[in-house]
Amino acid sequence: MAYGSSGRILRVDLERGSCTFEQIDEATYRLYPGGKALAAWLLLRERAFDAEPLSPGNVLVFAAGLLTGAPASTASRFTVAARSPLTGAYGESEAGGYWGPELKMAGIEAIVVSGRAAQPTYLSIGEDGATLRPAAHLWGLDPREVQQAIRAERGDPYVRVLQTGRAGENQVRFAALVNELKHFNGRTGMGAVMGSKNLKAIAVRGKRLYVRNAHDPKPIAEIGKALTRRVKDHPQAWDMQQKGTPGLMDVLNSAGMLPTRNFREGVFEGIARIGWDAYEREILVGRGTCYSCSIRCKREVEVTEGPHRVDRAYGGPEYETLQGFGGYCGIDDLQAIAKANELCNRHVLDTISTASTIAFAMECFEAGLIGPQHTGGLDLRFGNTEAMLEMVDRIARREGLGDLLAHGTRHAARVIGGGAERFAIQVKGQELPMHDPRGKVGVGLGYAIGECGADHLYAVHDTMLVNPQSLSFQAAIPLGVEALPARDLGERKARNYAILENWSSFGKVVGLCFFGPAPRSFIRVDEVLELTRHATGWPLTLEDLLRIGERATNLARAFNVRAGLGAADDCLPDRLFEPIPAGPMAGVGISRPDFEASMQALYRIKGWDPATTAPTRERLRNLDIEWVADLLEA
Ligand code: SF4
Repeated sequence: MAYGSSGRILRVDLERGSCTFEQIDEATYRLYPGGKALAAWLLLRERAFDAEPLSPGNVLVFAAGLLTGAPASTASRFTVAARSPLTGAYGESEAGGYWGPELKMAGIEAIVVSGRAAQPTYLSIGEDGATLRPAAHLWGLDPREVQQAIRAERGDPYVRVLQTGRAGENQVRFAALVNELKHFNGRTGMGAVMGSKNLKAIAVRGKRLYVRNAHDPKPIAEIGKALTRRVKDHPQAWDMQQKGTPGLMDVLNSAGMLPTRNFREGVFEGIARIGWDAYEREILVGRGTCYSCSIRCKREVEVTEGPHRVDRAYGGPEYETLQGFGGYCGIDDLQAIAKANELCNRHVLDTISTASTIAFAMECFEAGLIGPQHTGGLDLRFGNTEAMLEMVDRIARREGLGDLLAHGTRHAARVIGGGAERFAIQVKGQELPMHDPRGKVGVGLGYAIGECGADHLYAVHDTMLVNPQSLSFQAAIPLGVEALPARDLGERKARNYAILENWSSFGKVVGLCFFGPAPRSFIRVDEVLELTRHATGWPLTLEDLLRIGERATNLARAFNVRAGLGAADDCLPDRLFEPIPAGPMAGVGISRPDFEASMQALYRIKGWDPATTAPTRERLRNLDIEWVADLLEA
């Protein structure tokens, strides 16, 4: 096999209770070298687009990246993918932590899980192979108890455990997965797919160092050491270490684009009580990290007194969670927000969709579309802390209104009726993250065209590439992007977006965190290229890397076309075309004609038919995957 990969795929058939290994050849590996690319290829090959998402026919893939486990900062990520129960589209979510590197160290590139086990089961992987074990005794437990029990059964405290939680067992459509209690595959409901298969956890332990597989390990280690030394000298990396993502709260509020009360406003009056200073002063107790990463952006929080005690074992709220359960729900009680984060993490729920779904229900309640008869007497108004916390539990347990909200805002709005759709701030069924595209419209292009629905990690945000003298823009020059105003929505912005999406997609193929490579942070473009060259021994160019990223995105798009999605699904919620009412961004909305023109330009640039949104045969041929055109025409 080639360097950088064992080429081994573990196939788990839960119906038959079998675990077998398959070897992929080097030609396949070159086209789909890991992570997003490998997962999307496997899902297309298995025709998962034909399966009901929560049926045994759906296929769940876990794929390590090409660089996952390399001794270099942020090389910790792995991909989980399946047809999403939240969107019905291609579903995918990346996580860091320690599980992905461990899978790679066990000599496995990907796991393909099919069928449904008759009883709760967990998958145990070690140097001696893979086995399925009973998990009825783990069903319904907190993640910490599950992790402890599996480690005790394996007699090894270093076993890495990836698991679904109560929300996944109950098939909440935005249930997540967690490894090491703090690292989440948050989006698109992969936890629900795992729960629907009666698969509680995957425990893995491996002992093969990454460098044993690499073509040239020495320069990889040298780049890794240089990155560790660089953190303090690099403003973006250092800021992430000092504040983590919660540092964004004050920045976005000052700019007037902090999504507040279900995207109705862009400034939150309670910012001083839930912004970074308050976070650091009142709840922060530690910093955490992922495998080999010197940025250490993870926060740990604790509350030991008062009505909302919070256990630091479950980490601390990231920016999305902080604002999601904060200003987005009209709440300025930091301890309660930390509690909501802990509850989501114990139930293993996606915090973005959970918070957004509650904010949607709050707006429905205030508009009189639902009332106390639906909420079990809860006064579900914006700002009601206790009601917010209660709804997190009810969604996870699917009790009362929580059962409806567990389907996400798109479905809930259809059931509630009366115009509730205008309060469902989602794309393709997935709720928007806490980034307002009215202030950075390239993010809106990503929300609209992204294969998973609204997500903020398809491409680096516009604001990083405004100033041509900035560190971030200078670092992005090798990619061929232009410096453009954040609210520019012309053809040049569409071109920038397409390049940046390919670059981010490549990061997901190789398993680098979004907060690692330039222009977002401190790994230079040439260093990403060098890491990949030294891992594989292939004479790659930067253009090759961008093509690998583009190929992965085209596979995911083809999945969506086969799943029945079309141009009408590449849209934005109406609210984003309305002006923000007050603050520094008062009066600013997205121009619908400009947005539509930019989407047409983006289809042209990507080589996708604007009528069907399918990649053209010519583009697929250019990407060396013409077989996908046959699949689309079949
Ligand atoms: S930057 Fe943060 S999330 Fe990314 S790998 Fe490092 S510690 Fe993990």
